[in-house]
Amino acid sequence: MTKETERFPARAFQRALLDWFARERRDLPWRKDRDPYKVWVSEVMLQQTRVETVIPYFEQFIEQFPTLEALADAEEDEVLKAWEGLGYYSRVRNLHAAVKEVKERYGGKVPDDPDEFSKLKGVGPYTVGAVLSLAYGVPEPAVDGNVMRVLSRLFLVTDDIAKTSTRKRFEQMIREIMAYEHPGAFNEALIELGALVCTPRRPSCLLCPVQTYCRAFAEGVAEELPVKTKKTAVKQVPLAVAVLADEEGRVLIRKRDSSGLLANLWEFPSCETADADGKKTLEQTVGEQYGLQAELTEAIASLEHAFSHLVWKLTVFPGRLISSQSVKEPLRLVSEDELEAHAFPVSQQRVWREYKKWAGQMRRPD
Ligand code: SF4
Repeated sequence: MTKETERFPARAFQRALLDWFARERRDLPWRKDRDPYKVWVSEVMLQQTRVETVIPYFEQFIEQFPTLEALADAEEDEVLKAWEGLGYYSRVRNLHAAVKEVKERYGGKVPDDPDEFSKLKGVGPYTVGAVLSLAYGVPEPAVDGNVMRVLSRLFLVTDDIAKTSTRKRFEQMIREIMAYEHPGAFNEALIELGALVCTPRRPSCLLCPVQTYCRAFAEGVAEELPVKTKKTAVKQVPLAVAVLADEEGRVLIRKRDSSGLLANLWEFPSCETADADGKKTLEQTVGEQYGLQAELTEAIASLEHAFSHLVWKLTVFPGRLISSQSVKEPLRLVSEDELEAHAFPVSQQRVWREYKKWAGQMRRPD
């Protein structure tokens, strides 16, 4: 038993939390049934992404891949396209690899054993706890950012939540206070409390169902918790991006490498350059890297796109592809309709929208 939970009235706390959850739980599409595959998809989508954003993606994804087998049998391009815009694409690549393994090794049934499930690609401690407790009622803790915030406040924990040792400590605390007869509802209720009431800023302590048990509230320090070390400064990367069309109006796109950031997604050719005149460097890059001749016009837009560890500062140059004979993989020349069928990350969708806006203005009669 940890010292925080020693004299904690766990039963009364569970009752207050679960009663509140039964009354206030949001009606979300992945809560309609507890199919392990659907719970898994929703949990992967919800990592780093807001509930409101996830809802339409989840519904569309499940319509397209209604079963684990359907997802396992799908082509990677199709799966990436369904994920387009959600970001953090390694999540879906891992999910895809993992469901293939479940199909082959476990006959399509998501394993309910924490050790077996945690060996699958991309399945970390949080996913194990969330999926197994919600779908199978396995009493495993599901400690995400919401839960760490709630527990930091409830038990006045001042350890840095960015550390793995702190997460492990919270997992141990959950094992000590969990409602073992309802592990799924207990985990989900804590997450929901963090999302709706015990929010990062201005928690609604006066409406909180577990206020009586909260040490941070008693001490008046709720807003000072949790403690989290600041991230190091993010790197800024200036990129010049070319949207090149040939005489038939087909556009040049490129498939990214099969590993690393945004692996296997499509983009417009680009180069990293801090030059004021990125245009010249970009024309040279297209020539040297792909053996193609391009003629670019002046820049039409500047965009910023932030990842967790870096920021792309994109400058968009439209232009003409002079000769398209030597276009080969990883490049493709596609019509506008074909382009829409490829999976692009959000930054590149924004580039495409700027290009279309510009092209529309160019075509407009005076
Ligand atoms: Fe969070 Fe306030 Fe409730 Fe404590 S009382 S758990 S700080 S909302």
